[in-house]
Amino acid sequence: MFDLIIKGGTLPDGRSTDIGIKADKITAIEDLSTAEARETIDASGDLVSPPFVDPHFHMDATLSYGTPRINASGTLLEGIGLWGELKEVMTQDEVKARALEYCDWAASLGLLAIRSHVDTCDDRLLGVEALLDVRETVKDYIDLQLVAFPQDGLYRDPTAHENTLRALDMGVDVVGGIPHFERTMADGARSVTALCELAAERGLMVDLHCDETDDPHSRHIETLAYETQRLGLQGRVAGSHLTSMHSMDNYYVSKLLPLMAEAEVAAIPNPLINITLQGRHDTYPKRRGLTRVKEMQAMGIDVGWGQDCVMDPWYSMGTGDMLDVAFMGLHVAQMTSPEEMHRCFDMVTNVNARILGLQDYGLRVGATASLVVLDAGNPIEALRLRPDRLCVVAKGRVISRQSRNDARLNLPGRPDSVRRRHSAHS
Ligand SMILES: [Zn+2]
Repeated sequence: MFDLIIKGGTLPDGRSTDIGIKADKITAIEDLSTAEARETIDASGDLVSPPFVDPHFHMDATLSYGTPRINASGTLLEGIGLWGELKEVMTQDEVKARALEYCDWAASLGLLAIRSHVDTCDDRLLGVEALLDVRETVKDYIDLQLVAFPQDGLYRDPTAHENTLRALDMGVDVVGGIPHFERTMADGARSVTALCELAAERGLMVDLHCDETDDPHSRHIETLAYETQRLGLQGRVAGSHLTSMHSMDNYYVSKLLPLMAEAEVAAIPNPLINITLQGRHDTYPKRRGLTRVKEMQAMGIDVGWGQDCVMDPWYSMGTGDMLDVAFMGLHVAQMTSPEEMHRCFDMVTNVNARILGLQDYGLRVGATASLVVLDAGNPIEALRLRPDRLCVVAKGRVISRQSRNDARLNLPGRPDSVRRRHSAHS
C-alpha cells in the first residue's frame, strides 16, 4: 500500500512510468497498475520532473520593487545604492512577509530548493534573523540554504567581516563575498583568500558573487579557483555571475578554464539579470554580459542557471519560475540544439541540486519524494511553454494543484479548445 502514486507520467529522460511514494520517500518507479494507494494522481502524457532548484537568489530583497524608489539607471551599482536605502527602513516582519510570499510562489511552481544570499552588512543582522526564521518555517516544503553575503564588501564596509562571522555563528550555511566591489583589485583578491580560508576552517561551502562586471580585467575567479585548490575545497565552491569572462581575452580564458575544472569550481550565471544589468556602459555593439556557458561545460565544469532577483532593486520583473530563467539562458547562450535544450532543463534541476550539495534529490528509489507534474510532454516543450504546474509534491505531500488551463476557442470549423502542446521533440 502506497501513500501516493503518480500514474503514467513521462520522466525527463523519456521513460513513461508510475512512481510510488511511502511517507516522504520514493519507494518504487515501475508499473504499479495493480498497486493500491491512499491517493493517486493521473499524470498520463504529462512531464514528471524532480523539483526545480535555484542556486542563486536574494530573498531578503525580493518583492520590494519600488521601495523606496525605482532603479533609474538600471545598473548594478545603483541597485546596490538603492538596497542600502531600503535597508534603512525595512523591518524584520516585513522581510519575512515578502520572503514567505515568494516561497508560496516557488511552491506553486515546483521550486523546492533555493540558495539565497542574505546581506550581512547590517549591525542588527535583521535580514539574517528574518531568513533564518523563514528557513525554519518553510522546511517541510522548501530547502532554503543561506549564504552570508557582505553586500557592501568584506573590507569596504568597516563591520562586514565581524558581522559575516556572526551570521555564520547564527547558523547561516555558506560563505559569500563580492570581490569585484572591494575598493581595489588587491583587496578583492585578499577577500577571496580570507573567505576561502574561513570556509576551510569551518567546513563550509563557498559561493561568491564574482566578477559581475563587463571589465575584462576583473579576474577574481582565478584567485577563487586557486584558493579552492590550495585549501582542498574542491567540489564545494561556486562562482556566481562571472560576467567579466564574456569580455576577457581568449588566450587568458584558455588558461583559466582548465584551472576551474581542476579545482572543481562550479559556475552560476543568472541570465535574466546578466542580460539586464550588463552592457549598460556600452553603446553599440552592446555586450550580452553572460559568461561562457558552453565553453565551461565542454571542460566538464558544472554550470547551473540561477534566478538572482524577482521584483527588487535590481530587477523589476520575475515570477520565481526557473523555466523563465532557463528560457532566457537558452537564448542568450544560444543553446538551441536538442541536446543543449535538454541540458538547459537539466541545469535548473539536477545540476543545481549537485551545486547545492543536495542529498536524496532526484527521481529514483530511495530519494526524497519531491516532484512536479507539468502540462508538457517533455523538457523541451516545458521550456517552450513554461506551462502550468498541475501538481507539486514536496517530501511526500501534495502541496499545490492547478487545473489544466486550456483556452476555449470560438472559431467556426476549428476545435473548441487549444492547449498549444505540440510534440516535435522528445
Ligand atoms: Zn546575486
